[in-house]
Amino acid sequence: MYNEFQKYLASELQSIEEAGLYKTERLIESPQGADIVVNGKHLLNFCANNYLGLANNPELIAAAKDAMDDRGYGMSSVRFICGTQDLHKELEASIAKFFGTEDTILYAACFDANGGVFEPLLGEQDAIISDALNHASIIDGVRLCKAQRFRYANADMADLETQLQAASKCRFKLIVTDGVFSMDGNVCPLDKIYELANKYNAMVMVDESHSAGVVGQTGRGVTEQFNLRSQIEIITGTLGKAFGGAVGGFTTGKKEIIDLLRQRSRPYLFSNSLPPMVVSAGIKMFEMMDRTNELQDRLHANTDYFRTKMLAAGFDIKPTQSAICAVMLYDAKLSQIMASRLQEEGIYVTGFYYPVVPKDQARIRVQISAAHSQTQLDQCIDAFVKVGKELSVIK
Ligand SMILES: *Cc1c(COP(=O)(O)O)cnc(C)c1O
Repeated sequence: MYNEFQKYLASELQSIEEAGLYKTERLIESPQGADIVVNGKHLLNFCANNYLGLANNPELIAAAKDAMDDRGYGMSSVRFICGTQDLHKELEASIAKFFGTEDTILYAACFDANGGVFEPLLGEQDAIISDALNHASIIDGVRLCKAQRFRYANADMADLETQLQAASKCRFKLIVTDGVFSMDGNVCPLDKIYELANKYNAMVMVDESHSAGVVGQTGRGVTEQFNLRSQIEIITGTLGKAFGGAVGGFTTGKKEIIDLLRQRSRPYLFSNSLPPMVVSAGIKMFEMMDRTNELQDRLHANTDYFRTKMLAAGFDIKPTQSAICAVMLYDAKLSQIMASRLQEEGIYVTGFYYPVVPKDQARIRVQISAAHSQTQLDQCIDAFVKVGKELSVIK
């Protein structure tokens, strides 16, 4: 049997390769950070989700080590059997405090949080109204749920209103959006979404994976940005991006929603509990956020600096309020050539082109971090200018 299947797999793999979509993994030989070692060579990393520079933070590493000494390596259980330490409850409370919500439920990843949030809460009589550019995990989570599905064009409020009208006969309606969309770096118009939700008697869910720690004056995410703290029913997020970059996801929001998820959410009920080291470092991370706004301030200053200099140099950058700067090149081939030339110049960035972004919308996505020093930002900008001139992207 496997012979035939093997042939089939080989041809699938070949067609992926022929379409230029085969993904290879570059091997990093150092911790994650602003400066990484790839193939023995130092590169400045501008493509990690390490927004606050916490992926290699000494305080978090110490907290993780201490927790391992104190509480062991793993839990060998799901939460409700014998996998809950006091630490898990403490982290859940820290997350709720950070977002101004009532309660939190932890998952192994945000992929699981999104995979397990819809099916327990909504049924056939209900409606999910989802932004067309929402993350894959939201799309998969919606697929697992029997609710009727409605989709609106990215951040298009006229279309959202049309979909809300189409869903008007449904019992409960939930609008779902990413906080920051990862390809353009645009922030969802949560104020307008909230207005429409009120007008059409719908609830709102925001995935703050790319916005938590980043957006809003103190990094509390899009609910802070739009002055809607405690107003949104459901927030999901990850501990794998700005919040330390290890692993873990969460759903936080109204108490009864979280209660029901603990009873019925399948990735929570049937998957292992987060290890003490991750939980403890997470608690420490939220303590840091409480103590000082230094990292968020530095991230915002770095992002402004980078954006201003790149615009002045003549680059076409999507206007956003996040730490994602999409340097538009439009041409797919050019984005690949430019990314590899930048890597030769010591700058690690990734080109994105169809089908990851729409046709003729190729770009290089630069992700700014609080870990970048001004010198490193300048090195990146200088490399962009040099390679940009060489490839006639700028004059
Ligand atoms: C990264 C991301 C996720 C997945 O988070 P993990 O914790 O890595 O599974 C989910 N949603 C959005 C919007 C993301 O950007």
